[in-house]
Amino acid sequence: MDARPLSTPGRVALSLVGVVKQYDRVQALRGADLEVRSGELLTILGPSGSGKTTLLKCVAGFEIPEAGTVELGGRDITELAPNRRDIGMVFQNYALFPHMSVTANVGFALRVRRVPRTQIRQRVQAILALVGLEEMGDRLPRQLSGGQQQRVALARALVFNPGLLLLDEPFGALDRKLREQMQLEVRRLQQRLGITTIFVTHDQEEALVISDRIAVMDLGVIEQLGGPRDVYARPVNRFVADFIGESNLLHARVTVAGDAAVLDSGATIALPEIRKPGEEVGLLIRPERLELRPPAPGEDASFAGEVAEVVYLGNTLKYTVRLDLGSTLLVRRPFGQPPVFDVGQRVQARWSADDVHAVRW
Ligand code: ADP
Ligand code: MG
Repeated sequence: MDARPLSTPGRVALSLVGVVKQYDRVQALRGADLEVRSGELLTILGPSGSGKTTLLKCVAGFEIPEAGTVELGGRDITELAPNRRDIGMVFQNYALFPHMSVTANVGFALRVRRVPRTQIRQRVQAILALVGLEEMGDRLPRQLSGGQQQRVALARALVFNPGLLLLDEPFGALDRKLREQMQLEVRRLQQRLGITTIFVTHDQEEALVISDRIAVMDLGVIEQLGGPRDVYARPVNRFVADFIGESNLLHARVTVAGDAAVLDSGATIALPEIRKPGEEVGLLIRPERLELRPPAPGEDASFAGEVAEVVYLGNTLKYTVRLDLGSTLLVRRPFGQPPVFDVGQRVQARWSADDVHAVRW
């Protein structure tokens, strides 16, 4: 593929500043800010209705924001027509032209751009080979499996060599196994082409697997932007902590000294970092960071309780522990690693001070 100024790795390729989009009474975007680096795969992760598709539409030009700017490669494209933006897009309902062959579907964007026929044939062949469909050119979409159709949609978005690729929940209609396979394929293809990509999903596991960075979205704004490990281990607020991964999130207030927090039950937990005295926080402890032991009264960084439920999940055991303090904790332990506890047994749930993360409530 061509070298282009947009693909200098690490530079900001796309930026959104204060983007607002209103539909009738719904404010779908409320001042969204986002910077996408050249060559990265950035995932926008958020619940249904959080504004993900609207954000992509503002980038692609299918919606014009009421306020804010969209810049691509340093150029303001906020109001530029979609066909002049150099952006390839794959939608959830991939909408191939049903009466056109695979070859014709993939070549469509090139015909619209009046590329000479011989060149179209070469480019279509090359891109079909890239997605592993070189033998399927003469078929109609309905003669393909769901995964193959999605590869055609991908080929169609990539064939004109766009500077930016947008994928809106592209694997939503596929079963789990195929979805996981396509995730890896898209990731490999994206890295091989070095194409700057925004991938939209509501599936946090998918986001953790596929992304260089994740932008977590809620109610029309980006709440946090960071690497997968970052957003998992250091969420900035309660929403992000809750949305990504399983969490134990305990409501608490930071003490006057700032080095501990008091739970609603009155128990005090030490904090690994000093927080603002009096701040209302959620204390996050991930289930896999908790350890279960036989009862050991008076032990630091631990709560006593009783096992209320044990679920076997293949490689882990998931415990629900009812604490004597009143709340419950979720605990995940690797399967086959003692000690193992049964429902009704008394336990001590322990953690290490570093595994407590205070987030904005
Ligand atoms: P997501 O893709 O995260 O599910 P959307 O961007 O599709 O979210 O929608 C964000 C909000 O805007 C939702 O409340 C949705 O109902 C509303 N919305 C989206 N498109 C339209 C539209 N064309 N007209 C009116 N409301 C819309
Ligand atoms: Mg959507």
